[in-house]
Amino acid sequence: MTNKVIGFISPEPDAFQSGAMVTDENRRIIYANTYFSYELNWDLETLVGKSSDDLFTYASKIFFESYLMPTLLHDKKCEEMQLTLYDGNGKRIPILVSTKIDEKGHIYWVFFNASKRDKLYEELINVRRELEAQAKILISMASTDELTGLMNRREINLRAPELINQAKRYKNTISLLMVDIDHFKKVNDSFGHVQGDKLLNELGLRLQAFGRQTDLIARFGGEEFIILLPDTDKVGTKLFAAQLHELMSEIKINNTSVTISIGVTISDGSLNLDNLTKQADSALYMAKSTGRNRTVFYQDT
Ligand code: GH3
Ligand code: MG
Ligand code: MG
Repeated sequence: MTNKVIGFISPEPDAFQSGAMVTDENRRIIYANTYFSYELNWDLETLVGKSSDDLFTYASKIFFESYLMPTLLHDKKCEEMQLTLYDGNGKRIPILVSTKIDEKGHIYWVFFNASKRDKLYEELINVRRELEAQAKILISMASTDELTGLMNRREINLRAPELINQAKRYKNTISLLMVDIDHFKKVNDSFGHVQGDKLLNELGLRLQAFGRQTDLIARFGGEEFIILLPDTDKVGTKLFAAQLHELMSEIKINNTSVTISIGVTISDGSLNLDNLTKQADSALYMAKSTGRNRTVFYQDT
């Protein structure tokens, strides 16, 4: 036995499936059971006499200083702490530790290898992450129109009331635009349904990029879109509608541009989405019946 050994080494190999260790008041290891050699590849002769600091990772040492030791001094024991130690080959091993201190300042350590538990925990975390990601996709699918990437009718029904209430609360106006592609049936008939889909997709992308963050833009159905502009007066709404006509004229299908008709209503927040939609729809009807490719305000009809 080397002279650095203050205490003793278990003379007989034991078969405990857990580590047992004793450190003195200077943190020197004075006892380690044979678990350290057969499970952790430590040479007991070199281990005994080392400081327990040499056994633990930097983070575990900090934890030891800041929590484990103060708890031990106060409560005389500290149970089920998670630490990481190095085995004889320098591999990091997560362990679950319980410690007790005696009146001489000797610390009695028992610990269990927590690798399996940690692995299981990690797998659970990964599964949870995947589920969260899938839930996000599902939520997005439930609120988004697949073809245009805009919010769908269900989503605007959910979100519009808040915007309308805000207009009411802050005494602002809110504009609702009902946008309908002119003679879209002819587009399908002339160029095919796939080209029709492409046009809807392109319009969706452009509307998305065009709108302000606070605007609600949705595909309301087929070739109809609904746009809610908070805090926008008639002049602003007119300008917005003119820009929409312009934007549509830039989208070509076989070198032909397609037009839109827009029905608009402006309210002070006293009307709900259903009533706003009805007013905009009747303005849209006027836009269609008076020649299409134009904007009509319900208030002017
Ligand atoms: P109007 O100027 O009066 O609005 O005429 P319109 O042809 O646009 O209107 P109508 O309501 O007669 O026809 C709408 C067309 O939109 C018919 C339908 O096939 C087409 N449509 C609706 N949804 C889709 C879609 O998702 N993809 C394609 N390609 N076409 C669609
Ligand atoms: Mg149409
Ligand atoms: Mg229509």
